[in-house]
Amino acid sequence: MKKNSLKLAVVFCLCSLVPWEDLRAEVNKTEEVAPGVFFHEGDVGRRGHCNNGWIVFDDFVLVVDANFPSGAKDVIPKIRAITDKPIRFAFDTHHHGDHAYGNQVWFENGATVVAHEGVLAEMKKHETGFFGGAAGRWEDTAKNREDVAASKLKPPTLLFRKEMIFDDGKHRVELLHFGTAHTRGDGFAWLPKERILFTGDACVNGPYNFTGDGNIEQWIKTLGSVQELGPVRICPGHGPMGDKSVLEDQIQFFSVLRAEVKKMIDAGKSAAQVKGLMETVKTTVKTQDRLQRYVGTFFPAQYEQAYVEMGGTPFEQKTVGTTPQKPKDRAVVLGKVQP
Ligand SMILES: [Zn+2]
Repeated sequence: MKKNSLKLAVVFCLCSLVPWEDLRAEVNKTEEVAPGVFFHEGDVGRRGHCNNGWIVFDDFVLVVDANFPSGAKDVIPKIRAITDKPIRFAFDTHHHGDHAYGNQVWFENGATVVAHEGVLAEMKKHETGFFGGAAGRWEDTAKNREDVAASKLKPPTLLFRKEMIFDDGKHRVELLHFGTAHTRGDGFAWLPKERILFTGDACVNGPYNFTGDGNIEQWIKTLGSVQELGPVRICPGHGPMGDKSVLEDQIQFFSVLRAEVKKMIDAGKSAAQVKGLMETVKTTVKTQDRLQRYVGTFFPAQYEQAYVEMGGTPFEQKTVGTTPQKPKDRAVVLGKVQP
């Protein structure tokens, strides 16, 4: 007992010194979740990489998420070490750089990029440089990432509206869209036989919820529908994989956040008062063991968005007559992480 508490104390001390994700041994390791089904936790802390999955079918490999170009280049040899079957499809769970900017790398390795049609729609909105307009997100990211600067955007060309199914009799993977969550084009990879769910960033396991391209209220509803699939294994977009509790905790984090904000609205608090109570709410959320790991750099933005979605005024009031300030790009905020 004594030994265990000492161990716990050591872990606790380390946690306060280094980012918790650096402590996990799973990062950059390939794990076989079920026969022919693999999960690879990307190094989000140091390299901004997302998680990847891949399923080895009889004739080909389907990869879940394209990652950044450097993430794709990390993962390809790991797939090659397992199988020589052609990597024929790369599935973007959404349009963000850390999940889709590696598309060109997969394409050069023979894959076609697959996504929900909302991914292409979001790219048309944000990747203005590629689509003939002013510099967009790709060009912004390229300023801080050599791998992006050395590659190019490759939007998905194989699109689905509701679902797309891969089934060779041994493996079945359903790519599904349930509505808006992390983005307006979120896709899930569902393996009904093994009850494994790859979620992209619609469900993460750690402080990685970027909410700026999504809607928190709809996010909760969408994940409620996803839960009805009955997954037993969750492979999230960032952070370690886990059981169904990861999905429950993700939903709970947003539900508690919204409930706390609603309490203040119901109590008639002003925008300034709500803003002033952010640290209190943060502490309330952090005291819940299951939710603590979701609280991080994005909390102020998540908090403000929850408030604005419920009819509140944005905290940063623009002075009349000046150009509204563009919110700081998250790549800048986090250095290189772009969940
Ligand atoms: Zn994302």
